[in-house]
Amino acid sequence: MTATRIMLDENEIPTHWYNVVADMPNAPLPPLGPDGKPVGPEQMMVIFPETILAQEMSAERWIPIPDEVREAYRLWRPTPLIRALRLERALGTPAKIYYKYEGVSPTGSHKPNSAIPQAYFNKIAGIKRLTTETGAGQWGSSLAFAGQMFGIEVRIYMVKVSYEQKPFRRSMMQTWGAEVFASPSDMTNTGRAILAKDPNNPGSLGIAISEAVEEAASRADTKYALGSVLNHVLLHQTVIGLEAKKQLEKIGEYPDMVFAPCGGGSNFAGIAFPFFADKAAGKQVRLVAVEPTSCPTLTRGVYAYDYGDASGFTPLMKMYTLGHDFMPPGIHAGGLRYHGDSPLVSQLLHEGLIEAVAVPQLATFDAGVQFACAEGIIPAPESNHAIRACIDEALRCKESGEPKTLLFNLSGHGHFDMASYDRYFAGKLEDYDYPSEAVAASLAHLPKVG
Ligand SMILES: *Cc1c(COP(=O)(O)O)cnc(C)c1O
Repeated sequence: MTATRIMLDENEIPTHWYNVVADMPNAPLPPLGPDGKPVGPEQMMVIFPETILAQEMSAERWIPIPDEVREAYRLWRPTPLIRALRLERALGTPAKIYYKYEGVSPTGSHKPNSAIPQAYFNKIAGIKRLTTETGAGQWGSSLAFAGQMFGIEVRIYMVKVSYEQKPFRRSMMQTWGAEVFASPSDMTNTGRAILAKDPNNPGSLGIAISEAVEEAASRADTKYALGSVLNHVLLHQTVIGLEAKKQLEKIGEYPDMVFAPCGGGSNFAGIAFPFFADKAAGKQVRLVAVEPTSCPTLTRGVYAYDYGDASGFTPLMKMYTLGHDFMPPGIHAGGLRYHGDSPLVSQLLHEGLIEAVAVPQLATFDAGVQFACAEGIIPAPESNHAIRACIDEALRCKESGEPKTLLFNLSGHGHFDMASYDRYFAGKLEDYDYPSEAVAASLAHLPKVG
């Protein structure tokens, strides 16, 4: 009988995170201030604790995972690696398909892999409170859970439309003891100014980030936490790929290709970077980031310095971007609606060391439903992007007869996203290619530096 669930023991949870910077051919480019000069740690320490900043800038290959963090990881890690045997049969492909299932975490996605260490490092730095923003609620619920694990108060600015449309994500955050406010709120100067102009402003991720950062910068006991994009977040997520490598090793397998959905880049980096270490050492492995055609940052953006948020508060980061004032359409994979991408992922793509593809929305739901019918698990709409690209490759293998080994990251389950599935079944979802003119218009507003 072919093994379909490859498990690790609790004592096999990784002891170190893997830092890809150690294996990159060129050092990462620094974030810049508005004056075009690199941003110093002292400026960033207003909103992040020192340990996290040290990780953000580290070039060490291995960074130890504190015992307290591994102890909290044990609540759901190691996660299973599963052979999608029934999906392979349904496709009639000679390819072997494996997926790493991150939906077994308490919040249903990979995001607590970084929320837990972020809460821990803030705690040991004497910080009492964390602020953050959340769109669809995946990151907010993960930080709420992590704050509860380490006795840190968490305040979440949730984009107002989502606050109203996704009441159950909000209930999760409240169950774990977090305070949740619809953003724009009357708690900050940013929020109050926006509400004075338009009391019905529906909010945006850019506004919510501004509110969370403003509050963190104004109080000594409070710092800010971010759920993707930054180097330390990607670092924490590498537990995914480190476990997957060990699991594949146990059954004598190695992937030809690795796929993951890509929004800010954290779950892609999480599964792919540990394999990049082998690639840097000469091994053949293709690492593919999958994004929506409606928000095609890596495939149609430019590699340039741009702001991380819509209002231009953050330092400038060298990344693939569609322009910080790019307004993505309301696609159903909320976690993939970011104008930019991780600077590390961007640099590796720019240097031709990883790959990116964009897939249209309807085809992603199609793949997600096919996966659910074969394997049982209903994937998050974000994860459906990786499934689409992986199925497409498996179908190419069917034509060529090549028995490739494929691995994808099932970054989360879709139990809180069934309204999107309903819209798909009702025929209300559409494909949307972001128009070239709109991309060009937004790129015309890039800040002039470097
Ligand atoms: C947030 C999220 C993503 C995308 O974010 P990345 O930072 O690119 O990983 C993908 N899948 C799920 C389930 C998410 O919650």
